[in-house]
Amino acid sequence: MARKFFVGGNFKMNGSKESIKEIVEALNTLEIPDSVEVVISPPALYVHWAALHLTNPKVAIAAQNAFPQISGAYTGEISAPQIKDVGAEWVILGHSERRTIIKEADDFIAEKTMHALKHEVGVILCVGELLEEREAGKTLAVVFRQLDAVTDKVSDWSNIVVAYEPVWAIGTGLAATPEDAEAVHDDIRKHLAEKIGKEQADGVRIIYGGSVNGANAKTFNSCPDIDGYLVGGASLKPEFKDIILSRQ
Ligand code: PEP
Repeated sequence: MARKFFVGGNFKMNGSKESIKEIVEALNTLEIPDSVEVVISPPALYVHWAALHLTNPKVAIAAQNAFPQISGAYTGEISAPQIKDVGAEWVILGHSERRTIIKEADDFIAEKTMHALKHEVGVILCVGELLEEREAGKTLAVVFRQLDAVTDKVSDWSNIVVAYEPVWAIGTGLAATPEDAEAVHDDIRKHLAEKIGKEQADGVRIIYGGSVNGANAKTFNSCPDIDGYLVGGASLKPEFKDIILSRQ
């Protein structure tokens, strides 16, 4: 089954009205092949601003978080219906920075995933191991545990993109090798097949994140289970377009 190449840009807590408008305007004039889907994720404050300026139908917007309630007394939080209301179609959930700094637990991330899907917001579900977990040979145990929190609660994975992001590769300049990343992606797909069925697992996009840039993106092109990238730092730079156009 052909899986559409997916490139996400996670701006994290970076940008201003001016710089985000500049990025959006650059994407508006980029010729993106039909085989590529691009999703940019500005800070929540700028989601609406980005949506106001976006004219390229091949680019969508994601929020970086969602709280699993529609509305109410949840100071500082945003809901999936609100995300949609201001023009975004996706949300990034389970990013390692939220798992480690904000201490979000697997179950909470699964609840958020259910909430987003219920309100028709697609989920970029991030999983990945810490360096010490990798060194202890626990990569798959950690990644499967993070995934299973969601497979236990969600049976329809058609609106989920899994982002495998080894934490030691995020923001370090040390991307995983294509061989190492492909091996984990292949194991993730096999694991998903056991949990949600082979047909669904074959259709789930599994993207890689961790120090992808304009120069190294092409090195993953021969990896059959790497269906795109989640890009942090380089999504704020002109080289983001080289990543978007890397699989041609
Ligand atoms: C990320 O934050 O999801 C990420 C992959 O960051 P970077 O590309 O900067 O490593």
